[in-house]
Amino acid sequence: MNCPKCGLPEELCVCEEMTREAQRIRVRSDRRKYGKMVTIVDGLDEVDTQKIAKDLRQKLACGGTVRDERIELQGNHVSKIKDILMDMGFSEEMIDLNL
Ligand SMILES: [Zn+2]
Repeated sequence: MNCPKCGLPEELCVCEEMTREAQRIRVRSDRRKYGKMVTIVDGLDEVDTQKIAKDLRQKLACGGTVRDERIELQGNHVSKIKDILMDMGFSEEMIDLNL
């Protein structure tokens, strides 16, 4: 299968890596009603947000949802999330943490 963006076969295509390089991912925690904490990850444009959310839920063993390309995870995982995103191939410079 060829990439719809650059026309190259999948194994030569670097579109996804380039997209990842250009992004700023913002991670912050927020307090909801009744004092519940959530972790919000946004800025994930043009990547498979659903898949990333699924991996994050698995690695952090928590629940979470995707709304408008924004991932909301239950609990405060801000301090752990950077390493996990880096394992997924995002570079450190792309990730803005708001502790
Ligand atoms: Zn491509």
